[in-house]
Amino acid sequence: MNAKTNPIEHKESIKKELDRCVMCGLCSDHCPTYKITGVEAESPRGRLALMNGLWNKELEADTPLLKHLDHCLGCRACEAVCPSQVNYGHLLDQTRAHLNATSDKNKNKMALRAMNLIAQGGSTIRLFFRLLWLTQRLKLPVIARKMGLLRVLKLDRLEGYLPSLQPRPKWKAVYYPKNECVGRVGLFLGCVAQEVDSQTLSASIRLLTKLGYEVHIPRMQNCCGALHLHAGYAEHADDLAQKNHHSFSQSGIQTIVSVASGCTTTLADSMNTINKKEGHADDTFRIKDINHFLLTENRLTSDLFAPLAQNIAIHDPCSLRQILKQQQAPYELLKLIPEVRISELPGNQYCCGAAGTHMITYPEKADLLRSSKIQALSNTQIIATSNIGCALHLAAGLRSRQNPIEVLHPVTILERQLRL
Ligand code: SF4
Ligand code: SF4
Repeated sequence: MNAKTNPIEHKESIKKELDRCVMCGLCSDHCPTYKITGVEAESPRGRLALMNGLWNKELEADTPLLKHLDHCLGCRACEAVCPSQVNYGHLLDQTRAHLNATSDKNKNKMALRAMNLIAQGGSTIRLFFRLLWLTQRLKLPVIARKMGLLRVLKLDRLEGYLPSLQPRPKWKAVYYPKNECVGRVGLFLGCVAQEVDSQTLSASIRLLTKLGYEVHIPRMQNCCGALHLHAGYAEHADDLAQKNHHSFSQSGIQTIVSVASGCTTTLADSMNTINKKEGHADDTFRIKDINHFLLTENRLTSDLFAPLAQNIAIHDPCSLRQILKQQQAPYELLKLIPEVRISELPGNQYCCGAAGTHMITYPEKADLLRSSKIQALSNTQIIATSNIGCALHLAAGLRSRQNPIEVLHPVTILERQLRL
């Protein structure tokens, strides 16, 4: 059986959910796009009114007004504070899928092709990143930027996001602990993370095996489908979810840890839905954010770490804070390092602007949201964040200001400080 995880639902159930909004506006002050524009159509209430108009056929699917839905970051800060518990994130995904299904004008075919290419992984994308790595080694992007070529080719924004690439490691199927085995976990690699942030994945493997876990890399795992889902390509997200479910089921591992909170939320949702629809037990496997896993397993103690007399500002990704509600885990873990000084990144209650592809499609707004966080920073050596998109966005902003603050995953910081 092939259970659809994100079908476009019957419109009556969507309208019923939309009716739960009593238009109180209590969510507006928590919405980053309303905060920077002050425009009602850029608020959750305004967007829900637009969705209402669309589903009730009072608005056409190609009305320019719907651009306000496109501007939504999907951060779900509104959902977290709504007294009527309106399921805003779900309504947004459903509405975007409906728009893509009803009007060709709404489809961004180029973006879909790019997402599919990255999501598929495999030899093409590996070759692409290998070539990028080579161009970086030859300093070609620096030369092209100096000559103004990147701006002419409209590649300057994308190039600004690329960290210094490392060749991707060839992952083993299993990593064994040196000492007694205390459990088995699967590691979800992520499509973007394994190409641009293998450092975090390698650090996770070293930390987990040091703690006694046998780390499995389930074969044939895919992209989590978050980019597709939030851009309204539900069918593509479903295909990816099915492949991941198959891969995790085959591995026989019950706990799958993910190092990117955005992937964790999408995977956890889609795997639960498939388990329910296909009649698998709820605990067939569990998807866990690695911070939460490490904290609840309670195997880390201060004496494992060398002191680090530095200031770390912790960024709360929306997926960790608003959806998983596990934002305290990185604070608790990093506090275990002796002498470290921990603070919150300013404006943690608002999205940093990365928001999937938003940082590429709406660069000015994305930069504005990011600025309020990083320009207020002083005397900070590291920003810790647990989501790859946020990490790339924050690091690009710091690089463009020639600010030497490092952006690292909490697991990478912990692993660096491990006493051997
Ligand atoms: S989404 Fe919730 S908080 Fe926002 S206007 Fe509607 S009912 Fe009020
Ligand atoms: S998801 Fe975020 S950006 Fe979108 S309406 Fe809600 S608070 Fe605003």
